[in-house]
Amino acid sequence: MLNEIQKTLSNNSPEELEQLAARAKTLKEQFFGRTISLYAPLYLSNFCSSECTYCGFKSKNRIKRFKLTDEQMHQEMKYIADEGIENILLLTGESYKVTPVSYLKEAVSVARNYFPSISLEVHPMHENEYKELFESGVDGITVYQETYDRTRYKEVHLSGTKADYDFRYHTPERAARAGLRHISMGILLGLSPNIAEDLNELYAHLRFMEKNYPGVEYSLSFPRFKPIKGEVFEGSAVVDDITFVKIICLTRTLFPRVGINLSTREPEAIRNNILELGITRMSAGSNTSVGGYTLLDQEDQAPQFDIADKRPMKKIVEMLKIKNFDPVLTDWRRIKNEYA
Ligand code: SF4
Repeated sequence: MLNEIQKTLSNNSPEELEQLAARAKTLKEQFFGRTISLYAPLYLSNFCSSECTYCGFKSKNRIKRFKLTDEQMHQEMKYIADEGIENILLLTGESYKVTPVSYLKEAVSVARNYFPSISLEVHPMHENEYKELFESGVDGITVYQETYDRTRYKEVHLSGTKADYDFRYHTPERAARAGLRHISMGILLGLSPNIAEDLNELYAHLRFMEKNYPGVEYSLSFPRFKPIKGEVFEGSAVVDDITFVKIICLTRTLFPRVGINLSTREPEAIRNNILELGITRMSAGSNTSVGGYTLLDQEDQAPQFDIADKRPMKKIVEMLKIKNFDPVLTDWRRIKNEYA
C-alpha cells in the first residue's frame, strides 16, 4: 500500500491524475449519489491542559479561557439551529477537570433540544465514559491521531493527555465498543514531513477498525495546517492543492464507502471544486472560538485556527444546489422504538 501511495503522490502526469479523479468521481456517485451532509462545529470550552505546539488553545497560551454556561449553550445552539443545521459537532479543549463527562452530558442534554445528531470532539475517554455519553444522546466522535509518526508526535505534543500516543490511538476502539455509531479519524496534513507514511498508517488504522468493528460508520478528514490569527506554525510541511486533491481522490478509490469530511479550513475555491471527487460531508458557517457565534465580538475571539471559507450556511446550500448536489441537513434521527 505504501508504494501505491508514494507513487500517487509523486505522479505528476496530467493524464494519470485525470484518470484518478475520474475514478474517484465515479465511486463517489456510485456510493453516495449527489448528497453532501452539512454540519457545524460548536466550541463549548477552550480550557486545555495539553501543550500541542501548533494549537491556539495550548495550555501555555495567554488567551481568555472560558466555557459556556447552560444559558450560553442555548443561545449559541439556537443560533446554529436557526441557520438550518441539524448535525452538531461539540468541541472542547482537552481538560478533564474543567469539562468532565458531567459537563459534556449537560451540553448534550441542551443540544438534544435543537439537533437530532450530536457528535463530540473532546478529550479521549474510557469506554465506560463513552457509554454514558452514548446513553445520553451522543452518536459519534471525532478523534484525529494528527500524525502516526511517533517521533514527530512526541516533538509536538509536549504534555497533557494528548502526549499519550497509545491512549489516543486506541480511542476509536473504546468508542466503538461503547456503541457509538459514527467515528471520524484523520491526520493533520503537514504535521509530519512524510505524508505518504502518515496516510499509510491512517489507512491501516481504518482497515483495522473496519475489520474489528464493522457496525460503525467511519469517515476520514484531512485538515491542512492553518495560521492562528495570521501566524503560521513553524516546522509544518506545506501540502499544496494538487497533493491535497490527490489525497482525496486516492482515499475515495481505496475506500469507496467511507465518508470524507471537508472543513472550512479550506478556501471557497477548493471547497467548491473538490466536492465531486469524493467529499461526503462538509462544515458550514463555522466559528472556531468559544462563544464565537453570538457571544463575543470578532476582536475578543480566540480561535483554535483561522477559517478560510466564511460563507454562511445559506450560501453553502445555494452553492450546492447550483452545482446539482443535494444538501443533507440531517441523515440521522433517533426514534422511539414502541416495541422495546
Ligand atoms: S490540539 Fe487539542 S489538546 Fe492540543 S492544545 Fe489544542 S485543544 Fe489542547
